[in-house]
Amino acid sequence: MATAPQIQVKPGKLFIGGKWVDAASGKTFPTINPATGETITAIAEGDERDAAAAVEAARKAFESGPWPEMSASDRARLLWKLGDLADKYNEELGTLETLDNGKPIFESRQIDMPMVAEVFRYFAGWATKIHGETVPVRGPFLHYTLREPLGVVAAIVPWNFPLLLASWKVAPALAAGNTVVLKPASWTPLTAIRFGELCQEAGVPDGVVNIITGPGATLGKALVRHPGVAKVAITGETRTGQEIVRDSADTLKRVTLELGGKSPNIVFADADLDAAVRGATIGIFYGKGEVCAAGSRLFVDKKIHDDFLQKLVDRAKKLQPADPLDPKTRFGALVSERQMQTVLGYIAKGKAEGAKLVAGGERVSVGNGKGCFLQPTVFDGVRNDMTIAREEIFGPVLASIEFGDIDEAVRLANETPYGLASAVWTRDIAKAHRVAHKLQAGTVWINTYNNYDPAAAFGGYKMSGYGRELSLHAIEHYTQVKSVWVNLA
Ligand code: NAD
Repeated sequence: MATAPQIQVKPGKLFIGGKWVDAASGKTFPTINPATGETITAIAEGDERDAAAAVEAARKAFESGPWPEMSASDRARLLWKLGDLADKYNEELGTLETLDNGKPIFESRQIDMPMVAEVFRYFAGWATKIHGETVPVRGPFLHYTLREPLGVVAAIVPWNFPLLLASWKVAPALAAGNTVVLKPASWTPLTAIRFGELCQEAGVPDGVVNIITGPGATLGKALVRHPGVAKVAITGETRTGQEIVRDSADTLKRVTLELGGKSPNIVFADADLDAAVRGATIGIFYGKGEVCAAGSRLFVDKKIHDDFLQKLVDRAKKLQPADPLDPKTRFGALVSERQMQTVLGYIAKGKAEGAKLVAGGERVSVGNGKGCFLQPTVFDGVRNDMTIAREEIFGPVLASIEFGDIDEAVRLANETPYGLASAVWTRDIAKAHRVAHKLQAGTVWINTYNNYDPAAAFGGYKMSGYGRELSLHAIEHYTQVKSVWVNLA
């Protein structure tokens, strides 16, 4: 096991109004490395008072000082700089993410952090392209619209892609001229804290980005209920999204929700089977399966089922958990002991309900033996009504289900309250499009899996949430339209 590098973040501090401050309560909580079980550092435990202070700082920065006066091109320059800083500190940020989350350093440094940089640069481009329009109206009037920012945005993010999913919210919010209070997940706050320092280095005016750490149930809730917050952008579990909608009702905040998933991955007999096996493996095991869009329900055409499953199991068995800090590792540690227990609970349920465990399923010892390492797990002979096919496990557990024809595949795929992502594997391109149109999901991948781009909209159908992140659609969710009438008579 590689020795954990020194931590470079401001431990135990919140970033409010451009200053690093203690939590009002003075309390801290530990953040733990899930690969070793060791405490990395102490994190400030914010409460309602800190949420209020951060919102006040963000409000002030929205209403006065340099930010509302700043031209769109200067905002673009700042966003571009943040992207460049994400590149400059790639190694350090990647290391922090891996220490906190347990994901392989290969993923943190070569996938997450480069995309953070891309997201900031992409939205830097949008800053100068947000504008209203003139509208032909009846009568002697000039009518035009202004597309304006909303105000203070609360960006609440989960632990699976901590800085990346923060960038999906912070970048469009700033591009549109909003100010932000960012709350990372308690299990993975390190990169968000370091991001506060990057904002300082980039020259983001004080109070434009504030970062507070602490529990969702208290600190997150206080943010959502605060009347000074104009919009909440949350990525998290579906039940968290439901609670946020309820808590935001009194103040009628704008809310966008990126929630859970149970995404179907459909393999037809006429697919390139080797490619589909690779895709199914990446679909469920990338990011240890702690991916909202994970292809956790695999639908395999009866005609190829046995061959396909054999190849898949062979691949799964080769993918063994290892030290996340080793650059060769492709499968790391689950994020926490609690998540480990949740996932093991689902594996036990899968067995109890009669699914056939064909790969993995066991906790394994890596390094000091205190980490959260689990083998990539495959269940065959699953029915869509079993718990492991219905509920989001958010871990490396694949449920494989057979189907007979296209209609059955589509029906089973859509038989879920979720609708985040999906995939289809076939050489028949007409069939691929037909199925893509029928799937109730915000993303459909055809002969590929897990592709993301700042220009491609991402978000859910059904109980996977509403609103879209990335792309032009994100800008729409961080702005509002004002109608201006001018009497020309
Ligand atoms: P979570 O819902 O427990 O927490 C997400 C964030 O919300 C955390 O910062 C948490 O502290 C905060 N929070 C919790 N309760 C809150 C409340 N009542 N008010 C305000 N904030 C609150 O989710 P998690 O366990 O961190 O992340 C895993 C979940 O996120 C999975 O369900 C996964 O599918 C989902 N996810 C979705 C997407 C997507 O784009 N749709 C992407 C990644 C993860």
